[in-house]
Amino acid sequence: MITSEMIKQRGMSLGADAIGIGNIERWKGAPLQMDPRQIMPECKSMIGMVFRVMRGSLRGVEEGTFFSNYSSMGYGGITYLFMPMVVMNLCRMIEDDGFEAIPMGHQSDWRGIDNEGAMRQGYSVPVVPGKAAPDVMLQLRIGAYLCGLGEIGYSKMFLSPQFGPRCRVGLVLTDLELEPDPIYSGPQLCNKCKACTVHCPGQAMSRDKTVRVELGGKTIEWGELDCKACDIAFRGGKVVDDPAAKGFYTEAMYGKKITASQYSPFVKKPSNLYNTGQAVCGGRGCVRACMISMEKRNVLKNKFKKEFRRDRQWTVDWSTPENRRVAAAGEHIAQVSLSNTSAGNLMKAAVEGEKNGALPRIKEAD
Ligand code: SF4
Ligand code: SF4
Repeated sequence: MITSEMIKQRGMSLGADAIGIGNIERWKGAPLQMDPRQIMPECKSMIGMVFRVMRGSLRGVEEGTFFSNYSSMGYGGITYLFMPMVVMNLCRMIEDDGFEAIPMGHQSDWRGIDNEGAMRQGYSVPVVPGKAAPDVMLQLRIGAYLCGLGEIGYSKMFLSPQFGPRCRVGLVLTDLELEPDPIYSGPQLCNKCKACTVHCPGQAMSRDKTVRVELGGKTIEWGELDCKACDIAFRGGKVVDDPAAKGFYTEAMYGKKITASQYSPFVKKPSNLYNTGQAVCGGRGCVRACMISMEKRNVLKNKFKKEFRRDRQWTVDWSTPENRRVAAAGEHIAQVSLSNTSAGNLMKAAVEGEKNGALPRIKEAD
């Protein structure tokens, strides 16, 4: 019979950075559309795994020179490549023993609810009255919390004692009964410093309005998140206030024209990586500011020789003549993607751009 200890040893040897187990009873009271028992009615246990995002994957964003690594290796690479292999291989161990196991690790784009938790209009219907409309969406961060792997911070991000907000979560649902771990009760991880709200480029997190939920018999509180504001800002965009101005950064969002913000050096939003990776803001507030706050308080187990922030944070000054020229030129160019631009051309453009001083200038901010 497979034990919790065997599961943990296998999960860690496969590549998880931390692993915890929760029983299904902890999901009591979950909304129908977010209840794992809607997916697996006989589910007995949930196995949660934490996968670290390398601190180095945020370095290029921090320096303002290399943005794709966080989206690709830190976000999409873990979510779509590394994590599925670990989660699926762990499921093989369980199914070889005669129990069912569902590997989970990304938010289904097929989900029946939108980002705010409301039913998507005109999208799907329950197959039988009383069941959830497909797809049910499991909140991975809630799963990690209920598996005892850490806290949910004021930012609504999952915080692990090893990596803070710098992690992604994989889950396994199984009808195998396993000894659960307790809900996390170690050193306090989120101290409500609100650095996440102060440094969020979209001002997406409220500093005073909060949401309270009951999870596993405890009350958890996080700041109210404006998902639409985050949606725009995390891509590096900003709403155009002037009705006469053009919104060239990306297509209109929520009926609003979008331009490049001072937090993106790109004239147009770069193409998506690994399906959804497009976090141009690099978690400026919710990941980077929180990680810095936690490292300063010395509460994280994953320690580094040097502090992450070595300089003041930058913003882009789009009002300089050079940058206005680059932006104006970019308005007429289709989104840059490697499929229509050879590496040679990119290199030539970079060398020419550098010679001409045509690259958007980055200015330090206070
Ligand atoms: S930045 Fe501060 S308030 Fe926000 S989640 Fe992190 S520790 Fe909590
Ligand atoms: S992803 Fe970016 S825009 Fe969204 S909450 Fe985090 S810091 Fe703010």
